[in-house]
Amino acid sequence: MSVGVVGAGTTGLALTHYLADRGVDVVTFESGSRAGGVVRSGYHEGRVLEYGPQRTRLVPELAELITELDLWRELRIADGDLPLYVYADGRLREVPRSVRGFLRTDLLSTGGKLRLLAEPLTAPGRADERAACLFARKLGSEAYRNVVEPLFGGLYGSDPADMPAEHALSRLLAVEERKGSLLRAAVDGLVRGESPPPVSFDDGMERLPRALYESHRPYVHLSSTVSAVRRAGERYVLEAGGRRVEVDEVVLTVPAPAAATVLEGLDGANAEGLRQLHYNSLALAFLDSAADREGFGYQVRRDEPLRTRGVTFNHSLLGREDLYTVYLGGSSDPDALERSSAELGRQARREFRTVVGADADVLEVTKLPEVIPAFDTSWRALADVSLPEGITLAGNYTSRIGLPGRLRQARRIADRLAEDGVAAGPDDKP
Ligand SMILES: Cc1cc2nc3c(=O)[nH]c(=O)nc-3n(C[C@H](O)[C@H](O)[C@H](O)COP(=O)(O)OP(=O)(O)OC[C@H]3O[C@@H](n4cnc5c(N)ncnc54)[C@H](O)[C@@H]3O)c2cc1C
Repeated sequence: MSVGVVGAGTTGLALTHYLADRGVDVVTFESGSRAGGVVRSGYHEGRVLEYGPQRTRLVPELAELITELDLWRELRIADGDLPLYVYADGRLREVPRSVRGFLRTDLLSTGGKLRLLAEPLTAPGRADERAACLFARKLGSEAYRNVVEPLFGGLYGSDPADMPAEHALSRLLAVEERKGSLLRAAVDGLVRGESPPPVSFDDGMERLPRALYESHRPYVHLSSTVSAVRRAGERYVLEAGGRRVEVDEVVLTVPAPAAATVLEGLDGANAEGLRQLHYNSLALAFLDSAADREGFGYQVRRDEPLRTRGVTFNHSLLGREDLYTVYLGGSSDPDALERSSAELGRQARREFRTVVGADADVLEVTKLPEVIPAFDTSWRALADVSLPEGITLAGNYTSRIGLPGRLRQARRIADRLAEDGVAAGPDDKP
């Protein structure tokens, strides 16, 4: 059994790691000159800036990798109890994450709290409704508008009113079916302390993909764009930068439009639907401020008159001195990237002052075009995608978006392939 992996972001690198660990012959191609994909860290005057994820959760899969890659000494573990805020009706309000927090929060009125507690009496969520309808129907419109929309929508930069539950909430629907109620599932999770702490590394999030690449360097070929996959009898040939490599199985861990291009012309494949999937663009502005705010950061309610979608308090969360990261863009501001970096920086600084009440200097602005899968109605096009046996799609548009989900999906695929290739197709659901 040999496996060709296309893309060396977190999914491709983790898959390479798990396959190599299971004794499977693996070859991985990455078009960029560095591994890591959207996980990218840099330095600005000695301070770590994150151009992708600011942190992730220390799930067991990550802890295992950290042990295997000998990274514990470089790990920064944040305080998981730091407050998280939503900016609503002109001020920051704490998101409840405990029973005490629920009783105390001013994000919900007494009526809104009682309505939320009635969730077990509501009809189960349905795959054919939009995420916004499902949440508002089950949790009440106030909890939806003030808590769920800013946090859940903020994750994807999308409006939950455009996100079909079938694609955006399939895991939540399964949890509800298993537990009988969303509220019960949430309370069970709180009681069992199911939320591992947020983490990063001294040199930033890119330390993980860099370590994965370093430990599998012989199998990972950088600056090698896969232009096509072709049939070779029962096997496949990957065409990458003038080379042709024959493998038994192919796993594409690249974004959907790139996967469509690679599969174009492959006998038996209908991958055109992948091109329809919509990705949101983001801009990140890095601010230097002596605000000294405690917490994870905040998300902004959609109807507030701000362009900022969210802010991470890197200063308090991970000890990155005086650093705050502002997220702009997403579906509520689709033209954000057409504004100049200077204008985006000024906007970020102005709105930071409005919300936090402190001045800031703009260190840098970075634009990330079409970087986050929207999980909106364009996901319906996946129904038309059919692939021949031996081709697997992986990556954040097929499954969960966060890095823990990337590691879990890579491990599941490696287990399946190591047991000798079962049928292909989108591996699992968000
Ligand atoms: C701004 C931002 C913030 C985020 N915040 C968080 C967070 O706080 N916590 C968290 O857990 N997750 C977060 N995420 C999500 C997480 O970082 C991503 O889902 C994950 O890193 C995606 O990894 P991937 O390997 O699936 O895809 P990618 O990282 O996109 O990797 C795909 C790779 O394929 C390569 N490629 C493309 N075409 C080809 C080709 N033809 N041939 C060869 N190679 C090719 C690309 O160069 C790229 O390296 C965030 C993501 C972004 C963008």
